Formats: sequence, structure tokens, C-alpha cells
Amino acid sequence: MFADTGNEHEWTYDFVRELPGKTGGPAIEWVKADFSKEIARKRAFVAANWPGQGIPQEKVDRTVALMVPTGNPFLDLAIWKLRFPSTKARFCTEELKIRPMWEGVQLPIIEAGRALISWQGVRADESLARSLLPKWQKLMPPYGLKISKEVKAKWRSYAYRPLLTWTRDEVFAFHAKHGVDPNPLYAKGFSRVGCMPCIMSSKDEIRTIAARFPEHIERIAEWEQLLASIAKNSLGTFMPFSSDPAFKASPEKYRGRGGYTIHDRVEWSRTTQGGRQGSLLLDPMVEFSTPCSQWGTCES
Ligand code: SF4
Repeated sequence: MFADTGNEHEWTYDFVRELPGKTGGPAIEWVKADFSKEIARKRAFVAANWPGQGIPQEKVDRTVALMVPTGNPFLDLAIWKLRFPSTKARFCTEELKIRPMWEGVQLPIIEAGRALISWQGVRADESLARSLLPKWQKLMPPYGLKISKEVKAKWRSYAYRPLLTWTRDEVFAFHAKHGVDPNPLYAKGFSRVGCMPCIMSSKDEIRTIAARFPEHIERIAEWEQLLASIAKNSLGTFMPFSSDPAFKASPEKYRGRGGYTIHDRVEWSRTTQGGRQGSLLLDPMVEFSTPCSQWGTCES
């Protein structure tokens, strides 16, 4: 099962598409959130309520005109919420992964009266949280989703994590044994693959993405401009700025131009500790950290 966030690297899409053909395994269930209805409801809300809140009509009209689904789940989620997710409001995991997997694949299995066994390819040495996961686990309903009485009565859901004690070398050796090339992002220094970029990407990760895949930074910059045009506060920030001393020193500098942007974040990622001085010595290696909950998605 693959939850397409719309914010993945193209090599990841290729890898997922080609994998069944290489392994001879079953087709991969590809799920993708659709926020058309939510955007339509929010657009009507904005049109009806913002003028009464003192928002200039010109701004209301522009927001209503631009609140149109694009078909990209990550961007559409931001258009619906009029903001990007953040570490404190991380609705992306639930809306882009957990809910589409649940509604598209898992719930129908339970409704049909069958036991659901979620196979998850996580390893204990990927993170502290993963090291605490059991190989078998009885699953609770995904947090935040309403479960009907009928589904509760039929509930038989488990996680199975067959690779929990494997090392990274064993995983790559298994690929080689079966003639499957790993996702090429690993050969480019990424030790984990998640959103490109993730809202929680570290300084190293942002620097690496900017150095190797600047087109993904440009895509985020375009998304930020759209969000800045429609958000009530005219800010479109994709990543938080709390650790950037340049922002802390003069936040007013960023107002009026869409807020703190991904390009500001990239500049910061090129600085040494303290965030003020540029460095030529930084190695663009990356330690991706988009870990995992009991349902096998991003970790809280
Ligand atoms: S990888 Fe990061 S940005 Fe993508 S859904 Fe998970 S937490 Fe959100």
C-alpha cells in the first residue's frame, strides 16, 4: 500500500510503480487523498464570513478565486486549511496517509468481517520509537477517525513487522539477492525516504535537497506564494523559523513578502551552528527522519 502525498520525489513514484513487476508480487494499492469537497466548503465559508471579520473584499475575492483543487493532495490540504502543516499541527500524516489508507483499503477489509493484518517494513534500529515496537501488535483504531459500532464489533486488527530485527545491510543484501535495485535516493545519501521535503526535515536534509534537487525547493516556493495569496495573514511559510536567528533578529523583514520562505530556510541550512555564519565545509549527507506510528506512517 502506498499513500501518495503529492510531495514525493519522482524516483519514489517510479520505484513504487515498478516494484511489483520486479518482485512478481501483488499490485501495490495506491491511495491518494481528495480534498475537493473540503475546499468547496471552506471557499463558501470564506465568502460568507471573512467580509464580516474586517477582511478587505479584494482579499476575500482573491482567496475565493484561488481556492481551487489542484489534484495534488499536499497542496490541496494546505489550500483547504489555508496553511501548511507544522510540527505542532501535523495534520498531514492523518489526512494524507492514515485516512486514505484507512478509507481506501483497511476499513473495507474490516467491514467485510475479515481480520486486518498490516505488514510494516520498519526496523528497530531506525529510531528509538521504532525500537520500542513489538513484532506483533493488536492495533487500536487510528487516532482521530470515527469508528462505527458495527466496525467496533468486527474489529480484528494487528500489525506484523517481519523486518523489525533486520539490519540495514541485511535489507540491501535482500534486495541484491532478488535483483531489485533500491530506491535510487539511497545512493544519493538519503538514509530514509519520505516527503521531499518533510515539514520536519532537519538542517542537513534541507541542505541536501537544495544541493541535489533544487527543483523540489522551487516547487515548495511556488506553493508558498499561492498560500501567501490566500491566507488571512498573507503568510505562506512551509517550514517553521524558530531556530533561525536571522528571523528572530528582525521578523518584520519577512512580513509583506509572504513570510519566512523555503529559500530562507535553505539559506539557514547552509550556516554553521548558531545559524549566522555560512559554511563551505558542510557535507550534504542526509539523515532522513520520517519515522513511524503503530499504523506504519510518519511518527508523532
Ligand atoms: S513525511 Fe513529513 S510532511 Fe510528509 S506526511 Fe509525514 S510528517 Fe507530513
